[in-house]
Amino acid sequence: MSRFAAWPWRLGSGPAVGRYGGRVVTELLVLVFATYGTRCHLCGEEGADTMDHLLPRSMGGDHSLENLRPAHRSCNSARGAMPLSEWFKAHPLPVAGDRAPPSREWL
Ligand SMILES: [Zn+2]
Repeated sequence: MSRFAAWPWRLGSGPAVGRYGGRVVTELLVLVFATYGTRCHLCGEEGADTMDHLLPRSMGGDHSLENLRPAHRSCNSARGAMPLSEWFKAHPLPVAGDRAPPSREWL
């Protein structure tokens, strides 16, 4: 996760993150795509259109950039609040060269 060391600020500590709706979500989504691209971290395919929480909110996950990854709407809702380890047990990622989505580090 060393690439985050250069990030000049953390979303998790900003005052705007107390609210989770509307403009803040849109800005977060743009940031998530700008940081991670649009490859869905749940299925490994391109074309993600939402963001998913690595650690679900129900398990204490926050809205920091480190805890968010791009995901398809369908994958996102299929996962729900399932722990990532459970998800990848049921949905193994296709091997795509040596570039696994960053969320694999969280298993
Ligand atoms: Zn997907």
